[in-house]
Amino acid sequence: MEIAIIAHDGKKAEMVQFLNQNNDILQKKNITLVSTGTTGLKVSKAGLKVEALLSGPLGGDAQIAARVAEGKCHMVLFFRDPLDRHPHEPDILMLMRLCDVHNVPLATNPATAELLIKAL
Ligand code: PGA
Repeated sequence: MEIAIIAHDGKKAEMVQFLNQNNDILQKKNITLVSTGTTGLKVSKAGLKVEALLSGPLGGDAQIAARVAEGKCHMVLFFRDPLDRHPHEPDILMLMRLCDVHNVPLATNPATAELLIKAL
């Protein structure tokens, strides 16, 4: 099973903490992580295995959206920062839309991500 992880700058530390706390579930369920570029860098520096795509503003969210559309990605954990502006907002909306189109579970905050991970 492939899970995509994305965290806006203000939420990257929370994402690393979340993954560390749930690492046992990720290992046990044989989950592959893909991510946007900078999120992936931070997560792999923390010792977790992740395939990093392009940085979000350079198309990383669009790449993950394509994986969702192609049926390659089965869950998206996207820690959004609603208090910041993002030049790639259209890509973010596209990703969220495609999750709905393809009925792929999407968490946009840590509380929801926790519930999804625990349900695996
Ligand atoms: P980043 O992208 O992981 O490369 O920072 C995240 C985003 O802003 O969508």
